[in-house]
Amino acid sequence: MIENVVEYFRNLPAKQCATCGDKLEEMHECYQTQCEKCNSQA
Ligand SMILES: [Zn+2]
Repeated sequence: MIENVVEYFRNLPAKQCATCGDKLEEMHECYQTQCEKCNSQA
């Protein structure tokens, strides 16, 4: 079951910042939807 979840996330397209659309590099906080720039502006 857990492996299926991992596969699911692996197959997701590259994450993008929800605000500026910049491509997100691998981040420690994988729940983040914004790049560091936009995240720090909140
Ligand atoms: Zn951004």
